[in-house]
Amino acid sequence: MQTKTTCPYCGVGCGVIVEQDAAGAFKVRPDKEHPANLGRLCSKGTALAETLDHPQRLLYPEIDGQRVSWDVATSTIASRFQQIIEEHGADAVAFYVSGQLLTEDYYVANKLMKGYLGSANIDTNSRLCMSSAVAAHKRAFGEDLVSCSYEDLEQAELIVLVGSNTAWCHPVLYQRMVKAKKLNPALQVVTIDPRRTQTADLADLHLGLAPGTDAILFNGLLAWLAENGHTDAAFVGESTHGMEQAVELAKTTASSVQAVAAQCNLTVEAVEQFFKLFAATQRVVTVFSQGINQSSSGVDKGNALINCHLLTGRIGKVGMGAFSFTGQPNAMGGREVGGLANQLAAHLDIDNPQHRDLVQRFWQSPRIAPQAGLKAVDLFQAMEAGKVKAVWIMGTNPAVSLPDSAQVRRALLACELVVVSDCVRNTDTVDLAHIRLPALTWGERDGTVTNSDRTISRQPPFLPAPGEAKQDWQILAEVAQAMGFGAAFQYQSAHEVFREHAALSAFENHGARCFNLGAWQTLTAADYDQLPPTQWPLDAAGQGTTRLFADGKFFTPSGKAQFIAVQPRLPQSQRTPEFPFVLNTGRVRDHWHTLTRTGISPRLSAHVAEPYVEMHPCDARDQGLQEGAIARIHNGTQHILAKVKTSRDQQRGSLFVPMHWSGQFSGAAGVGALIPANVDPISGQPESKHAVVAIEAY
Ligand code: SF4
Repeated sequence: MQTKTTCPYCGVGCGVIVEQDAAGAFKVRPDKEHPANLGRLCSKGTALAETLDHPQRLLYPEIDGQRVSWDVATSTIASRFQQIIEEHGADAVAFYVSGQLLTEDYYVANKLMKGYLGSANIDTNSRLCMSSAVAAHKRAFGEDLVSCSYEDLEQAELIVLVGSNTAWCHPVLYQRMVKAKKLNPALQVVTIDPRRTQTADLADLHLGLAPGTDAILFNGLLAWLAENGHTDAAFVGESTHGMEQAVELAKTTASSVQAVAAQCNLTVEAVEQFFKLFAATQRVVTVFSQGINQSSSGVDKGNALINCHLLTGRIGKVGMGAFSFTGQPNAMGGREVGGLANQLAAHLDIDNPQHRDLVQRFWQSPRIAPQAGLKAVDLFQAMEAGKVKAVWIMGTNPAVSLPDSAQVRRALLACELVVVSDCVRNTDTVDLAHIRLPALTWGERDGTVTNSDRTISRQPPFLPAPGEAKQDWQILAEVAQAMGFGAAFQYQSAHEVFREHAALSAFENHGARCFNLGAWQTLTAADYDQLPPTQWPLDAAGQGTTRLFADGKFFTPSGKAQFIAVQPRLPQSQRTPEFPFVLNTGRVRDHWHTLTRTGISPRLSAHVAEPYVEMHPCDARDQGLQEGAIARIHNGTQHILAKVKTSRDQQRGSLFVPMHWSGQFSGAAGVGALIPANVDPISGQPESKHAVVAIEAY
């Protein structure tokens, strides 16, 4: 038996082929025909077959630790949610979902919450990953749109990687860049990151700038390009608004190469080299990722770099563009169906009354959420304050992954009702649930995902459902039926959900909205099963789109892209004598999220087996810490323990701790305990790259 599917880990969205031999053993190999990976896989994808049998699967619904039937579980959730809504209003309930969900699951969750319960309190762990990029895209392009395609990485003459450890976090795209550089030695690569990661091994120039100064660097680039005659005047004139204001403000905040170098703690020569390289190269792709997004000014940082592409007209053309790499496998799919609290569905705006009316008419729902809901950090604070009394968490582990994890625990303990649907029985979050619902996972569930370059790919099942586990959209539909919303949730398959999602994208869409899957609204079940990887939007014949904005048309009301004047802001927390280190968090190569899947593979765990803190050897010496010693890292109220690793790749005064391990693994809290809940004021994305802490021997 052979099944073509998609790797469930990161936003690269690699195609894989799963084969079962005569003895029943599974093997996973790369799909040579999938446009994301073209026959490649990274260590995590290669090890997928090793993680199919999870020893701690959640197999049956439980209430307060006791096994119950599905009927009891769903009717209890329905009645408790209804009771809370009647007593306290719709905003007293919430869903917290995940970029691990399939688009079909996300669609049904969003429809139930926004169209039937009447609140927009549905947010997602994608808030932690790319919500700043979403907001930057929306401000610049009018819609959350990624113009590039992966093939632009091979077509580029200069790739600028900003805040992106691509080698570890999007390994297959890194492999593609390595090969592109081998085939074309003239391809230049610049990495911009306070930490010199493995990605910098590919770089012709590495800019180890001071943490949090990216907007100063890109404002400096914008001003320098404008002053030195590198403006594409025709493109700027015909296809953009706001260039003068953006350049003027950039000049005041980054007046010269020397001023930029001083503020970013770089040499004048390095800054000048970067500016000249950018100016002299026509085909530039600027990749940005969590190093930009996980910031209290992440939206502005995204717009600062997009501004440079707008000024030079380097967008929508082969080998050019600002390219957001998403972390989660289906962060993009979640965005398409309105999985964020400040979105509606099909890229429509929740703040726009016409859009709310359109979606309500399409759904024929009794109500529609009247305004944006609470974003992740605010949502958990509202739980602790008693304003949100019931939450349903799907496929994510916020007790580890959100900042200020002690507050998240308090929030869940304060809720009257915590429902968790998950495939694993014993995560830090599942442990706090009143009702546990067994969910299907990769290989068992059916649906689609969308990767970082807008490619929609299938994830069909090849394994039977274990125990009584069900797919999230089914569980949601059963709860909706128990609440009396049955007619709108009569789906018999993921295919039916997908068709409705495609139809909504085309409903009264006369070309003013980019996201459009209209050609798939009549897809047969057989066609859905065979759906080839396709980049949205679709044309009338169902063909995908490689690159957006090729015609210089954007999706703002004027049809022009918008420059954003950026006033750089430094990170919210700044070092003090008591807390003299900046703490940065991130991923390691072979683990994913909070280890629930990769943690059971000995091969993957062998790469990095335990939590560590990376620091400069001189800082370690000054703190009396030896290589391999256990260090205590604290912020005054919370502490974690980690093994010391010294490296000159780490700037002095900076620490790096991976985000994967929780108290279950380290014996103390996970690193989320040390991250303050500082968020970007527009996107609500937490500043997970910049906490201030002290470190000492344990
Ligand atoms: Fe999976 Fe991402 Fe690795 Fe591809 S790069 S195999 S999607 S983890």
